[in-house]
Amino acid sequence: MPFYLTMIQDIYPKKFKNEYIVQKPKDNDFIIQFDNNCILLNKDNSFVKYHQIKEDINLYYCFSIDNDSVFLTTDLNSSLYCRLNVKELRYITPKWLAFLSVGAYQLNKWLIDNKYCGRCATLMNSSSEERAQICPNCNNVVYPKISPAIIVLIKDNDRILLTKYAHGFGRYALVAGFCEIGETLEDTIKREIFEEVGLKVKNIKYYKSQPWSFSESLLSGFVCDLDGDDKVILDTKELKEATWFTRDELPDTYDDISLTQELMRAFKYNNL
Ligand SMILES: [Zn+2]
Repeated sequence: MPFYLTMIQDIYPKKFKNEYIVQKPKDNDFIIQFDNNCILLNKDNSFVKYHQIKEDINLYYCFSIDNDSVFLTTDLNSSLYCRLNVKELRYITPKWLAFLSVGAYQLNKWLIDNKYCGRCATLMNSSSEERAQICPNCNNVVYPKISPAIIVLIKDNDRILLTKYAHGFGRYALVAGFCEIGETLEDTIKREIFEEVGLKVKNIKYYKSQPWSFSESLLSGFVCDLDGDDKVILDTKELKEATWFTRDELPDTYDDISLTQELMRAFKYNNL
């Protein structure tokens, strides 16, 4: 795989193992606690390992990468640790540690959001057999939330359309959005493009997908061709800019984290 065609989940030769097998922690396993919007790290900014924990703590098994397992806890004394904002997690190196920490972040959010049953407000238990929260009163079973969403690169011969969000993330992006009730992925693509930039498209082709823990979503990446008029009508509530760039004009983007960036690089260097 060319170096510029990788994303946060591409951690080869490491292997992500998400089978849910409740287990005891080993000395070198990762112990992760989030405090508000921060992950707790050792004073030297290293990840906390099980052998460094002196007291008895409750642990929730998340997943493993190779032989390293990841556990969540809420029992650490946060005043004894350094804090790193979760916005920085994706940039941790090596990349498998970034992937590990964002996965733990997603599961931690899911556990917090489902501490109590949404049907009857009883305190939920964690299943011992699968990655699920179970209500002991009404048997409601809740699995981690994964929302389908699309990212789409719109081509017009040698040009593609890049956008900038009206708020927050400051770099160039592609049209993206969550699937709504009753939509296929193709319906979502056409609706999002028309809503955000007022264009029509054709020849929708699948590219790759990406688990994106920050929005609890599974992103599906697509490429399509402009169909007709190239005049952009901007949805200014969502976007502050949408501009056509030729292949040569495209900004260099060497972030090997996101599907958005990989799609842009694939167009620039790989004749997507
Ligand atoms: Zn319940």
